[in-house]
Amino acid sequence: MLEKDIQEVLITEEEIRAKVKELGATLTEDYKDKYPLAIGILKGAIPFMGDLMKEIDAYLEIDFMDVSSYGNATVSSGEVKIVKDLNTNVEGRDILIIEDIIDSGKTLKYLVDLFKYRQANSIQIVTLLDKPTGRKVDLKADYVGFDVPDAFVVGYGLDYAEKYRNLPYIGVLKKEIYSF
Ligand code: 5GP
Ligand code: MG
Ligand code: MG
Repeated sequence: MLEKDIQEVLITEEEIRAKVKELGATLTEDYKDKYPLAIGILKGAIPFMGDLMKEIDAYLEIDFMDVSSYGNATVSSGEVKIVKDLNTNVEGRDILIIEDIIDSGKTLKYLVDLFKYRQANSIQIVTLLDKPTGRKVDLKADYVGFDVPDAFVVGYGLDYAEKYRNLPYIGVLKKEIYSF
């Protein structure tokens, strides 16, 4: 059903599964002696976080934050506002921010500064996708699944106007989908 709207599959389900296992093994090694707090950024990080957390063998806790910067448009407004804050006090915690994709970097820059201000002990960024060519601020992820070209991608949590998050792979939409 959804597949008819997809121009091209960029990353398959199998490729995602293998990468998530690999990232999970690395994070297990890096965090096995800590009590990390994984913070998923809603809603895009949901499938990635759900799969990744099962691959991390450490005393991990999870929480979620919802920030908005994009609305339904495909270009960043540059404005970040907190829609839902954490339930957890991050002071002294080792934080893993879990994101679907980094483009301009503005969303994560805002969050890193916020968690620093709230006195986290350490802050590392885990992102499934990275668009290095889109960067507008100085920000680097510590763990990256895949680099993607500067195209608007959907699936595995990533939406277009709130749809396509439930696609099990990462793809590019057909042009006509944007033009109604
Ligand atoms: P940034 O603040 O880094 O520019 O934007 C990050 C957020 O913008 C991501 O968390 C994601 O929600 C959205 N975003 C950036 N690029 C894409 C894309 O190619 N597809 C989708 N669906 N969302 C994107
Ligand atoms: Mg996001
Ligand atoms: Mg979105």
